[in-house]
Amino acid sequence: MHPETEGPFPVTERLRLMCVHAHPDDESSKGAATMAKYVAAGVEVLVVSCTGGERGDILNPELQDDPHILRDLAQVRRDEMAAAQAILGVQHSWLGFVDSGLPEGDPLPPLPEGCFALEPLEVTIEALVREIRRFRPHVMTTYDENGGYPHPDHIMCHVVSVAAFDAAGDPAAYPHAGEPWQPLKLYYNGGFTKARIQALHDALVAMGEESPYAEWLAGWERPDRAVTTRIHAADYYDVRDRALLAHRTQIDPNGTWFKVPRDVQQREWPYEDYEAAASFVPIAEGEDDLFAGLGSAEKATATASSGGLHLVHDTRVERSA
Ligand SMILES: [Zn+2]
Repeated sequence: MHPETEGPFPVTERLRLMCVHAHPDDESSKGAATMAKYVAAGVEVLVVSCTGGERGDILNPELQDDPHILRDLAQVRRDEMAAAQAILGVQHSWLGFVDSGLPEGDPLPPLPEGCFALEPLEVTIEALVREIRRFRPHVMTTYDENGGYPHPDHIMCHVVSVAAFDAAGDPAAYPHAGEPWQPLKLYYNGGFTKARIQALHDALVAMGEESPYAEWLAGWERPDRAVTTRIHAADYYDVRDRALLAHRTQIDPNGTWFKVPRDVQQREWPYEDYEAAASFVPIAEGEDDLFAGLGSAEKATATASSGGLHLVHDTRVERSA
């Protein structure tokens, strides 16, 4: 028989990871080396950007007065995201909401009308549920209940991701947003721990180098969150840095980010940290893989499709207002 008359080739199932972020550039500063590592291992990775980053400031002094950038920052950020996406080797989709901006002043000004943080929750959650049901991730990442840092879009990214993780597998929820699909594990990005910054700081001081972190460490009040999972990703720090630099308007190439030599980072903190927030499979002590416990892609898909799943790990807490 001629091959073309046979049925379709069986689709080779792959593990799938969805990383939800607030703005373009967040994907390159939080978990980028992990994503690049998984891409290299054959995992399908999708970055979802909740907003277009339209209200971001231009943080690269060399580009601050560039009239072309000032005329259409939204388009510039779309182009930067496309460049970072290509470097990371990930898929990407825009959820399509508008940057809420970082309110500053005392008292804080009201959030701008129509922004992501003010959209009705059923609208933003449904948009992410639709993406989950389309991409069918086995694992999702997002931010903790404090947003990792207190930008209204980062906090909303958490709220929407957690709700969508719960709703996507429920046939009664958002019935017009696709076939139900239940992701099996939900993680929070956890890179900005005092332990990590202190380790880098101590290494620089021991080398007789200037540390950019002295002041930050002296004023550190936030306790470190629980790290359940460490992804050894030092081999991909160069990819992470190139992706970050692709967001040219958002990164000062001479700023703190690039003050610690890469080989020091690779030696002192060769992993990216995660906090398991919810999981339908047990989280083992000292976990070093976001897909741990899921087995092969076929098995993970079978589990996700099996129905009647029960969470065996759930450390999510309500955000305190
Ligand atoms: Zn952000």
